[in-house]
Amino acid sequence: MNITKSKELYEKAIKVLPGGVNSPVRAFKSVGGTPVFIQKGSGSKIYDIDGNEYIDYIGSWGPHLFGHSPDFIKEALIEAIENGTSFGTPTEIEVRVAELVRELVPSIEMIRFVNSGTEATMSAVRVARGYTKRNKIIKFEGSYHGHADFFLIKAGSGALTFGIPTSPGVTEGNAKDTSVADFNNIDSVKNLIQKNKNEIAAIIIEPIAGNMGVVPAEKSFLEELRQICESEKIVLIFDEVMTGFRVAKGGAQEIYNIQPDLTTFGKIIGGGLPVGAYGGKEEIMSLVAPSGPVYQAGTLSGNPLAMAAGYSALSYIKSHPEIYNDLENKSAYLANGFINNLKLFNKNFQLNRVGSMMTLFFTENEVKTYNDAIKSDTNLFAKYFWGMLSRGIYLPPAQFEAFFVSTAHSNDDLQKTIETQREVFSEIFG
Ligand SMILES: *Cc1c(COP(=O)(O)O)cnc(C)c1O
Repeated sequence: MNITKSKELYEKAIKVLPGGVNSPVRAFKSVGGTPVFIQKGSGSKIYDIDGNEYIDYIGSWGPHLFGHSPDFIKEALIEAIENGTSFGTPTEIEVRVAELVRELVPSIEMIRFVNSGTEATMSAVRVARGYTKRNKIIKFEGSYHGHADFFLIKAGSGALTFGIPTSPGVTEGNAKDTSVADFNNIDSVKNLIQKNKNEIAAIIIEPIAGNMGVVPAEKSFLEELRQICESEKIVLIFDEVMTGFRVAKGGAQEIYNIQPDLTTFGKIIGGGLPVGAYGGKEEIMSLVAPSGPVYQAGTLSGNPLAMAAGYSALSYIKSHPEIYNDLENKSAYLANGFINNLKLFNKNFQLNRVGSMMTLFFTENEVKTYNDAIKSDTNLFAKYFWGMLSRGIYLPPAQFEAFFVSTAHSNDDLQKTIETQREVFSEIFG
């Protein structure tokens, strides 16, 4: 694989952008080497500036349910551009996207559009705090909810009920208000609630975790969480930035048949443009300014281009419910191919999958929590990643990430991916 131009550009990039990138995982730090610079994408493929072609399983980290630049989104965008790119006034398309989300996700009575998943989760917590008049929140170890200060917290050791910052720049004050429980462990949640009686405003969870690699919550765990939030008057927030419109048209909450009080969205809801959203019960959402006192605003929020792309993506989902069968079939085919390859080399590595999101963990122990996930052999993953990339398969450049199948992946793509994996395994284990 010739990546001369990418290497040259990376040398320039690191002088003007921290780490050469605008979001850390893109820099390939956890797999070593230097990143390739992508020039264009079409359907299931992306192309770098040296002209290499890849079958893409990052999908921009989630948004591209239909692959790159599907015609219907491209056309919607061109039409929107003709009318101007931003007004900072109400527009019709915002109302239409809101109505459409409400139709697809019944727990959403009211919604506010923002520009990223980070903004969505940050604002959802603020309104939950405003609603409950409490300060503290509970999140889960290994989950990711964007980069707001009060989320960049990990579990404190031993007797500490509050967390500790995972990044310089995050204050102890923030850490004091965030407690960190264990995913799929209801006792750890009960324990924290007990120690912070009547102080917890919200519990936020990825119902199907995607940011420690794919780790689905157990149904009984989520059901108990729902019950506890009810009895303790805690706002339950499902962070569906990744799972929303990905695992089902109504997200993870449809699959589990559990209604959270608030839900956060991002990724697919913007059709590939920068969009996030938070919404849920009218009783809570009506507290958001200007209908209520909880302040939250955005110059480019509800931007007409972003809304046009989002509307186009969501209407396609609404009128083509069969895509979720298609995604399931393609993903199951790929997963079976992977499992057969593993058997050939006597490996029992764990493949976690929900619909079109999956992670192959390089560990032979079942992965149900963050602690299970981090037992994975990340050096082995790095070898695997480079083996695949150099043969034209673009996986997320980190072990603890989800990779995504889109409707644009063809049977040939999937077959080629399985065969390539066998080749790479043979090189590593053979
Ligand atoms: C991607 C992601 C976020 C952050 O969204 P950004 O748009 O990157 O700010 C938050 N929560 C989850 C579950 C995510 O997957």
